[in-house]
Amino acid sequence: MTRFIFVIGGVLSGLGKGVVSASVGKLLKARGFSVTAVKIDPYINIDAGTLRPTEHGEVWVTEDGGEIDQDLGNYERFLDINIPKQNNITTGQVYKAVIERERRLEYDGRDVEVIPDIPNEIKARILAAAKDFDFCIVEVGGTTGDIENLVFLHAIRELGREYPAVYLMVTYLPFLRNVGELKTKPTQHAVARLRELGIMPDFVITRAEIPVDGPRKWIISQRCFIDRERVIDDPDVSCIYEVPLLFEKQGLGKKLIEHFGLEDKPFDLSEWSKFVEVLKSSERIVKVGIIGKYVASGASEHADVYISILEAVKHAAASLGARPLIKQIPSQIIERDGTASLAEFDCIIGTPGFGKDGTEGMILTAKYCRENKLPYLGICYGMQIALIEIARNVLGIEGANSIEMHCDPSVAIIDFLEEQRAYMKQLNYGGTMRLGAYPAKLKSGTKIHELYGSEDVSERHRHRYEVNPRFISELEKAGVFFSGVSPDRVLMEFMELKDHPYFVGTQGHPEFKSRPLRPRPLFVGLIKAAIARKD
Ligand code: GLN
Repeated sequence: MTRFIFVIGGVLSGLGKGVVSASVGKLLKARGFSVTAVKIDPYINIDAGTLRPTEHGEVWVTEDGGEIDQDLGNYERFLDINIPKQNNITTGQVYKAVIERERRLEYDGRDVEVIPDIPNEIKARILAAAKDFDFCIVEVGGTTGDIENLVFLHAIRELGREYPAVYLMVTYLPFLRNVGELKTKPTQHAVARLRELGIMPDFVITRAEIPVDGPRKWIISQRCFIDRERVIDDPDVSCIYEVPLLFEKQGLGKKLIEHFGLEDKPFDLSEWSKFVEVLKSSERIVKVGIIGKYVASGASEHADVYISILEAVKHAAASLGARPLIKQIPSQIIERDGTASLAEFDCIIGTPGFGKDGTEGMILTAKYCRENKLPYLGICYGMQIALIEIARNVLGIEGANSIEMHCDPSVAIIDFLEEQRAYMKQLNYGGTMRLGAYPAKLKSGTKIHELYGSEDVSERHRHRYEVNPRFISELEKAGVFFSGVSPDRVLMEFMELKDHPYFVGTQGHPEFKSRPLRPRPLFVGLIKAAIARKD
């Protein structure tokens, strides 16, 4: 029978509810239970595919081609499972389904109402995702009391009466420096607000800059009517993978199991702990530069716009006993100031992206890496950029570019994928890219084949453009080796340079399949080359 763990936010969003949800799932998975996770996003968008990266951060791509909230990435990484796109529920999807059903007369001519029809649709979607799992973690995006998440809270309140369930509230405790104290009042208000909606939290997870002390826990337990042992501390940590270990130290796994009336089981988190230890304190440092067009955001920097790439770097580095020092570089700065600052890095990753802004800075960076034999991994756009650079500077094709930048079609090194022209004409942007996992064939004798250790590979994709077949042979003459192609041999999926320690590109997104204890080969290759360069 499926059991639910509902994770709800109080006070403010952006607290890392996704990491809390994933960590709780990890504790249950470690005990041998089957676990899945659902993310509810109360926005009207059907999916995250059309969201601006600078506002919303990375778009996560599922194996089955969903463009989803990045929290699903945390679930996949912590739980080491593939999560399908149906596990992301948005307001847009729910209303669209209900309206379409109404149009098919499936409500028999009665009034279709927000209550109960919207929560019913939400419940059906959650139950479909949870089917056959021992536990389903459901994270409700936003914060309690937001107008847009009321129907979702209504739905999970009902599910909690129909199935065994736990409500876990994540709240924020501000630290007031002038009084040197964590304040619990916002938590008290958030819990009270949730109670008004008919939900009594079973656990409160307190997010704060520092650990919560005994007196504060006591206040929360008294004022929120929660056992003191069910106030779980979740202070800032340098490595998110430590969170399950912190929760385990506080007995959260056992407390959850007991809440459901189950017997606790033996578990082993020793490999995970070792992995965390390397990331926290290894003295073998690799400096990784992530060049991207979405790094800068006014005066601050986007922390999560390339989140899966940052995590994939950590997984790969840890597998080699190294700790990465990762720096994101705004490509606009390279455009303005030149490439001198790149000398400090042991390797560079050229990131995914769309549109013109910052592209030239990325091209300059690829050129620097090629000429200075600095290890480079180009991911999707990062590979397209590298090929454009070679076309311009090795083949001397003036104005070479991607058709995405509206260049002259005669010098479009990167061109439309055939099926894309029609979509673009119809302004049909949502969910129409080449999305999800696609197989590719690797050529033996290549660096990439050696890293993957097999001819048949699969990575997830998200793009509209591809290497223009007209330029393949010229690029090959310039030293590019297309080491992997689509099974029908039409699409160039992987490339590498012959006379370079590690200059590799892929049209895919290997970051989406990287897991803490199962790093992805192209990242391992990059970090290995970076270490070799240092030693
Ligand atoms: N904009 C490029 C394309 O659509 C690259 C996309 C990406 O980097 N994911 O092909």
